Amino acid sequence: MRIRLILLFVVLLPIAVLAQKENMPYVMLLGITQDGGYPHIGCQRKCCQPAINDKSKSRNVIALAIVSPTENKWWLVEATPNITEQLQLFSNKTLGKYPYLPEGIFITHAHMGHYTGLTYLGREALGAKEIPVYVMSKMKSYLETNGPWSQLVQLKNIAIHELTADKPEFLSSIISITPFLVPHRDEFSETAGFTIQAGKKKYLFIPDINKWTLFNRDIVEEVRKADIVFLDATFYSAEELAYRNITEVPHPFVRETMDLFKNAGASIKQKIVLIHFNHTNPLLSDPQKIKLFNKEGVRIGIQAAAY
Ligand SMILES: [Zn+2]
Ligand SMILES: [Zn+2]
Ligand SMILES: [Zn+2]
Repeated sequence: MRIRLILLFVVLLPIAVLAQKENMPYVMLLGITQDGGYPHIGCQRKCCQPAINDKSKSRNVIALAIVSPTENKWWLVEATPNITEQLQLFSNKTLGKYPYLPEGIFITHAHMGHYTGLTYLGREALGAKEIPVYVMSKMKSYLETNGPWSQLVQLKNIAIHELTADKPEFLSSIISITPFLVPHRDEFSETAGFTIQAGKKKYLFIPDINKWTLFNRDIVEEVRKADIVFLDATFYSAEELAYRNITEVPHPFVRETMDLFKNAGASIKQKIVLIHFNHTNPLLSDPQKIKLFNKEGVRIGIQAAAY
């Protein structure tokens, strides 16, 4: 075990030093769960017990920091109900090197885990001044015409910028982010995924999608073209949601995603980082299952890890 640790250190240290030396842009996962977080409200089952008993095992809702060291700037993807912890987590992990607030916030869609953190920017909490919030057109008009979000706009706590599908938004000379449409339960807004070009690396971020077969792109091909892809892994398999009607909340099962990539090589599979875990997903809390799954060559997202 000790030798393994030393070996890991010897291998990882030069990588860490190199990354820092080159000051390359990168992304950091500030959370990994589905909208309800972990532990999950109302769950008394085995899945949430570890996090109920030990707060260090709880996990934030999915969010991403895009970091540009040379420019000393960062951007936040998703405004989750855990935004307070996530801003602090980012500050701690980067040793306070960056401004506390991001240069802007990108939001995929109007489901509670992805945008309700915006309320913390308002008069009752932070009282922020014109934080740029980037959303697509339906999401924009939803925020502008419904309280409490409309108050954030009126009081200029946030300044909304409209994104257009497949049109890159340049954050700097080395970072751009491009939204694309994703099939999902669009009750209040459309749903976006994001392509992030950060320096030489291309990232893909798809936290919520109904099924890969409904997507107008070939996900295997998209993974091939990118360096790191963060993919919806809400449920491991159909069995885990026995207590709710799974057709109300469609997502690709991890097993379905793995089947799609069964003929892909190891170099393709290792680009995949699974995220947006429901509390019932064993990849969040079952050490046996995690150990077995790790052999499949796809990564499980780690909170506070950089990619
Ligand atoms: Zn979600
Ligand atoms: Zn649970
Ligand atoms: Zn959703």
